[in-house]
Amino acid sequence: MKFQTPRGTRDILSPEVEFRNYVFEKSRELFEIYGFKEIVTPTFERTEVFTKGIGEASDIVSKEMYTFKDRKGRSLTLKPEGTAPVVRSFIQNKMYGKSLPIKLYYCGQMFRYEKPQAGRGREFSQVGIEIIGTSDPLADVETIALVMNLYKQLGIDKTKLIVNSMGCRNCRKKYLQDLNKYLEIKSKNLCENCNFRIEKNPLRVFDCKVDQCKKILSKSPILRDYLCNECEDHFKNVLKGLESLKIKWQLDNRLVRGFDYYTKTVFEVTAPKLGAQDAICGGGRYDYLIEDYGGPLTPAVGVAIGVDRTALVMMRMGIKPFSEKNIQVFLIALNDTAKKKAIVLLDDLRKNKIPSDMDYGNRGIKGQFKMADRLKAKYVLILGEDELRNNKVSLKEMDTGKQSIVNYDDVINYLKEKIKESN
Ligand SMILES: [Zn+2]
Ligand SMILES: [Zn+2]
Repeated sequence: MKFQTPRGTRDILSPEVEFRNYVFEKSRELFEIYGFKEIVTPTFERTEVFTKGIGEASDIVSKEMYTFKDRKGRSLTLKPEGTAPVVRSFIQNKMYGKSLPIKLYYCGQMFRYEKPQAGRGREFSQVGIEIIGTSDPLADVETIALVMNLYKQLGIDKTKLIVNSMGCRNCRKKYLQDLNKYLEIKSKNLCENCNFRIEKNPLRVFDCKVDQCKKILSKSPILRDYLCNECEDHFKNVLKGLESLKIKWQLDNRLVRGFDYYTKTVFEVTAPKLGAQDAICGGGRYDYLIEDYGGPLTPAVGVAIGVDRTALVMMRMGIKPFSEKNIQVFLIALNDTAKKKAIVLLDDLRKNKIPSDMDYGNRGIKGQFKMADRLKAKYVLILGEDELRNNKVSLKEMDTGKQSIVNYDDVINYLKEKIKESN
């Protein structure tokens, strides 16, 4: 019997794991610079937390959720996205009673039953931010500016920012009437799924990936032509804010982001080297979600960043802004007595934060040197009979081949100096 990872999941190994960690690290750093505090929500929630806000006609709710019953028959769902749980928590913990806006960030694993492809698994990682409790367009600008800044810091250039406005309850009414009229005429030529979407939420037809549907929808009425004055002003101010920060954007009339909860600003950032589905982050405003979930009417805006896809872009672009954390020192013990002394020295090295290792098998000196090579150790320390007798250690610098003898008691300070110099 052979055990394998379930379809759509995978083991993440070095060096990819270092790229991912770097994305996590840089994101957290930046989130805190922008004044966000972390929130950790459970890995699974009651299913309604997602169905209500994301919408029944969305791809996520209609076919991608990992939903199961627990032992008491309660329906639970592994989180497919991060915003709905934050909103649930905002209400549950009565954060609306505090001074607003509140700025939260999250990092974690999400789950969607999707067709697996590069950078898109059924388990994936996201980091994201939410600014809850302000309708100011500058909050939208800050959200976008933060992600653009993050990509810059990660070394990803040639990103493209795509923006659109989805309007509010008021302007959407008239638009949906006209969209429905248009879709009714075309419904025979739209796919089955689109016909299902038309019944539940016609805006979801813009999620369709079927060419025929896309072609028909490219001539549909667009929401931006229906924006009320308030929404129009909001959108203009977002674009002005972006301009003042020298952030370039592209309008996409049909960008709706596959969630029902978005209002006003929506946006995506795409990166090269990812092919057709090239978005590495997406977000927008969700002014009614908190009210829909039973809280007070509280406008909010947020973004989610795909960690796996961002790491993949960096790898494909050949970006490596961090140095490898290889072993610095490898210890070679030539006999059992030396080995006993070596484990004490190894322990001391590590307590002094010098990345080091040794071999526990009884390989010969050649085998141990090979291992040091494989680990890319910069220094090899050799403990043999002579060294033991004289309380010394032989040291070999692997880059230059230079050898020296160092007092056992001085070796840690000596190495610390060496390592400091070489950095
Ligand atoms: Zn409006
Ligand atoms: Zn379709």
